Amino acid sequence: MKLPDYPKRDDPLREPKLVKRNQIIKRQRMLAFRSVPVKRRVWWVELTSSSVTTSDFNSRDLPSGLTFTETSFWCLSRRRAKAILAKDHAQGGSGTMYPVEYRLCNACSRVLLGPEAHQYRLKMLKPMATWTYPQGPACNMDCKPHGRGPEGRTATYTKHQPSSTGERSSSQQPRPSV
Ligand SMILES: [Zn+2]
Repeated sequence: MKLPDYPKRDDPLREPKLVKRNQIIKRQRMLAFRSVPVKRRVWWVELTSSSVTTSDFNSRDLPSGLTFTETSFWCLSRRRAKAILAKDHAQGGSGTMYPVEYRLCNACSRVLLGPEAHQYRLKMLKPMATWTYPQGPACNMDCKPHGRGPEGRTATYTKHQPSSTGERSSSQQPRPSV
């Protein structure tokens, strides 16, 4: 994605443009260095005069393991949530939605919401050497990797690409002692 120009001082849309620009910078850094995790959000939606079923959603819209009822549910897609709310309002409802930070634990895949997700994102920002597991920091005391790969790592079909900046702390290689 091309980085937009820095917005001018008298630009009325300066703030949203800056936010968008910073998001793009973060995403580019995340891709380049895998070091700046992007803040992800999930929306808590409550409807008052309409109801939904799972068939109203794509499989990617709904996070697994979180509440889903006909009138209140978690939705990963802001666009979908807004459309459903618009329908609710058109039917005279006063449904609401609000965002909560959302992240899956890299080690145990537990769903982290709000402050937990925020704390985990901060841990991810720290050097990989401080992480509890090679795949990420522990989300709590009981956190253990339970993937089906070796050493509980998540099995993946994507081929591992060594980065040009040098491979950091693969679990097979012993870490050089400082
Ligand atoms: Zn965990």
